[in-house]
Amino acid sequence: MAFELPQLNYAYDALEPHIDAKTMEIHHSKHHNGYTNNLNAAIAGTELENEPIESILGNLDMANKAVRNNGGGFYNHSLFWNIMSPLSKKELSGELNESILDAFGSFENFKSAFSKAAATQFGSGWAWLCVHKGGKVEVCSTPNQDNPLMSGVSCGGTPILGLDVWEHAYYLNYQNRRPDYIEAFFSVINWAEVEKRFLAGK
Ligand code: MN
Repeated sequence: MAFELPQLNYAYDALEPHIDAKTMEIHHSKHHNGYTNNLNAAIAGTELENEPIESILGNLDMANKAVRNNGGGFYNHSLFWNIMSPLSKKELSGELNESILDAFGSFENFKSAFSKAAATQFGSGWAWLCVHKGGKVEVCSTPNQDNPLMSGVSCGGTPILGLDVWEHAYYLNYQNRRPDYIEAFFSVINWAEVEKRFLAGK
């Protein structure tokens, strides 16, 4: 049972002007597709072949670079497309909002911590908001296609929000201006989906 490239819930140009259509098209149809195909090749004929991706990553031998890089790439991008939407829900409410206020004091402080994690991740990687059992949230970043489900990375828990800061995610439109891309990302976050993931992961 091979993994399949998930379809987006919106058109490639739906997140403009924040994320441009050409970047979205290449990112999804080339990069994410590549991770998906390479993951399938890496697990074909192994005991990982019929495992869910969360279980593959949670029990991963980190020395298995093909599965680490491509399994991470498959999972991370699948999450990324889903936590963005042209119909960005602007106001946070409910339990996730309370948990963010508990951890950071204010939404602005959270935004600033998340943006800093994204801006200071050296080279390629991801910034994350994760939830731990019990509902505590945490911000962190990981290099390359690593993510918090893997052991031995800088944070744990379940990722509920992730931002791709590889240059392929923003360079066409933003060139070296990663902070502008990070700011723009906040205009397309699908908070309803993040809240759903928070409730499932807490
Ligand atoms: Mn990417």
